[in-house]
Amino acid sequence: MKLSFVVPCYNEEKNVPLFYEAVKKDFEKADYDYELVFVNDGSTDGTFKALKALCDGDVPVKIINFSRNFGKEAAMYAGLKESEGEYVTIIDADLQQKPSIAFDMVRILDIQPEFDCVAAYQAERSENEAVIFCKDIFYKLINKFSDTEFVKGASDFRTFRRPMVEAILQMDEYFRFSKGLFSWVGFNTKFIPYVAEERATGESKWSFLKLFRYALEGIFSFTTAPLKIATYTGLATSVLSVIYLLIVVIQKLFCGIDVKGYATIVVLILLLGGIQLMCIGIIGEYIARTYVQTKGRPIYIAREVIKNDKYEKKE
Ligand code: UDP
Ligand code: MG
Repeated sequence: MKLSFVVPCYNEEKNVPLFYEAVKKDFEKADYDYELVFVNDGSTDGTFKALKALCDGDVPVKIINFSRNFGKEAAMYAGLKESEGEYVTIIDADLQQKPSIAFDMVRILDIQPEFDCVAAYQAERSENEAVIFCKDIFYKLINKFSDTEFVKGASDFRTFRRPMVEAILQMDEYFRFSKGLFSWVGFNTKFIPYVAEERATGESKWSFLKLFRYALEGIFSFTTAPLKIATYTGLATSVLSVIYLLIVVIQKLFCGIDVKGYATIVVLILLLGGIQLMCIGIIGEYIARTYVQTKGRPIYIAREVIKNDKYEKKE
């Protein structure tokens, strides 16, 4: 098997057949075999039924049917795990990422052996200003504080060689931030620009709040720098308060000035209280992640894995 498509699907009932047809059309000219590994991530619509209908076609199809919604990260992990191809492409089911680009990715890997991965990044984005601004800040922060490199606009739409897939699978951490994991494992990645299409049907599952949480996930997963906020602000306020103490003593002893400062005290108590609570919260985030990870729960649970009968023929 030359190529596996890993396709996470969450409520993509209408897109699934469109996706299948698009892949078939774009890969008509391919002189190699490929499989479609769909992950049904606890969809509440007819996605599973739509996927099962694809099993009757002439392409090898595998369906990993999750017991509930585990999220796209878990779906990608499951898909990579079940994939058999020498190359593996992660692609969305909503046709925002054209399968014809995957065809080009395969060709690049074929003729450029120095690369282990071809990743598509969005050169132009049609997002609102606030989202673009927040994303800019996120990438600046995380690249400054983390040893792992994060490429702005890079998507999960990628084609890997098998050794890189195996490396990613070795990282079975529960809190997954794939963009970071893909970069952490190393290997040579070639970035190619692409323009995301409009969703074929349905709506994106990302809200601003979800994106924000996802960004925090990236930060907590790939750097422990926030833990140092407590150390440094603690250090700075200690130094400042010693200086202030000296000033007050000198004023009292040598200048006879009574030190007033009700407002100052209230402000300082509130400020320091706030900083302390925030720092405890940050420590809590790391402890919570450690706690969940030590429980060793699986990243996903599959109700069943279905494989159609087009595999034997191809092998
Ligand atoms: N997806 C998933 N589980 C989820 C949310 C999304 O498997 O909990 C899938 C979804 O079906 C799609 C892909 O992940 O194939 C990207 O999702 P979406 O289109 O909502 O994100 P966007 O393209 O807006 O980043
Ligand atoms: Mg999408």
